[in-house]
Amino acid sequence: MRILIVEDEVKLARYLKQGFEENYYAVDLAHDGIDGLHQATHEEYDLIILDIMLPGYDGMSILKDVRSAGINTPIIFLTAKDSVKDKIAGLYIGADDYIVKPFSFHELLARVRVCLRRSSNRASLQLQVADLILDPLTRKVMRGNKRIEISPIEFSLLEYLMQNAGQIVTRTMISEHIWDSNFESFSNVVDVHIAKLRNKIDKNFDIKLIHTKRGAGYFIEDQSENP
Ligand code: CA
Repeated sequence: MRILIVEDEVKLARYLKQGFEENYYAVDLAHDGIDGLHQATHEEYDLIILDIMLPGYDGMSILKDVRSAGINTPIIFLTAKDSVKDKIAGLYIGADDYIVKPFSFHELLARVRVCLRRSSNRASLQLQVADLILDPLTRKVMRGNKRIEISPIEFSLLEYLMQNAGQIVTRTMISEHIWDSNFESFSNVVDVHIAKLRNKIDKNFDIKLIHTKRGAGYFIEDQSENP
């Protein structure tokens, strides 16, 4: 689990980082709003802890920008302002929870765990493109009423394509998401796995779902609806 903490009080930020690391979370810190927004939109996190009063760019604006960039990572606000108005505004624009300073680390940790549990329930929802259904919980893939047997890597690859349905994912995005950073990006491993996946998902069906965007990457889409 990887957490981003955006907090300009350096001592508090380090204290929180240490606390989470002791509980086996990986933690990145940002000490101002601009850095915070950059990290929140350029790195992948499981959860973001966001101070509201920040130099550079405030927490509310960061939250708005993150959500309008289509990032649904759970966000917990840290706020010194214990006013009902701020709480309502914060939740209204898409924060998952908030905690008022001063707070105990254990209270924050408990909130983080609740948020993560909620978001993993969200992540367990089935993905569907046309008659292709992938269930992250049971690891089952169905096309129509036919069960499709795929390997764990093909499953991850298909899940990633389906999470980004209709959008092109590049070979680099795929390799970074599915393999670790030592992955040999010049190899054709991605293409090989896409080919295997196509054999199973598309070969025996009239409507092809996995498409190649030459020179860019791959995407999954039901194009039968918008010819
Ligand atoms: Ca602050």
